[in-house]
Amino acid sequence: MTKLFSKNDDSFICENCHKTIDKLGYTSRDHCSRCLCSKHVDILPGDRQNDCQGLMVPISCSFSTKKGYIITYKCTKCGEIHNNKAANDDNKNAIFAVMNGSYNKDNY
Ligand SMILES: [Zn+2]
Ligand SMILES: [Zn+2]
Repeated sequence: MTKLFSKNDDSFICENCHKTIDKLGYTSRDHCSRCLCSKHVDILPGDRQNDCQGLMVPISCSFSTKKGYIITYKCTKCGEIHNNKAANDDNKNAIFAVMNGSYNKDNY
C-alpha cells in the first residue's frame, strides 16, 4: 500500500524571517507561524520528496467556517500554487494582511 500522507512534524528555522518554529503537535507544521512563509518540499502533502526547495509565499487567504483559514501559496522558484490550512498559532495579523492584500514577507 502506498502511503500518500505522512506525518512530518519537525521544528525548523524559517528561511524568510529566521524564527525557530517549534513542532505543532497536532498535525504537520508546513509553514512559519510568524511570516507564514513555507518551503516547497512536498510533492504529496508531507512526503518531503520535492527537490525544488523554493520559498513559498502566501498570495491569498480565505476563511471557511468548516476548515478555518486556508492560505494559498505560490513558490517563488517554480511558480507552483498550493493551499495550506492555517495553524492555530499562526500570526493573525499576517493572515489579515494576506487577506487585504497588504502582506509583504519582508515585514516579518
Ligand atoms: Zn517566517
Ligand atoms: Zn517550487
